[in-house]
Amino acid sequence: MEMAKRHGIPARMSEAEFAELNANPPAWLIQSRANRTGKRPVWVQLTCAVCGFTEAERPKKWWPEFDFVHCVEHGPAQLPRLEEGKTSLEYPDISTRMYGIVDEAKA
Ligand SMILES: [Zn+2]
Repeated sequence: MEMAKRHGIPARMSEAEFAELNANPPAWLIQSRANRTGKRPVWVQLTCAVCGFTEAERPKKWWPEFDFVHCVEHGPAQLPRLEEGKTSLEYPDISTRMYGIVDEAKA
């Protein structure tokens, strides 16, 4: 008590502790904040352009804008036909069973 009075810093101490807690939040605090904001991972529904099979997947940073996606079952002959003068770029394994297709104009 005498110590606290002499230093007169209990309020500042707790402020510093609070700042420290904010700067380096322990795992339990991160967890409780995540729960409070109700943040959910964003999912997209990928639907096969050929058979309609759908799969939910979290979008990846490296995904371009796909013209369509299809599942692993289908060969190129089964896929929607390209417009004249376009070429197909394939992104394999965008999810467990899906391929992403981007139709690009030929250079
Ligand atoms: Zn399919």
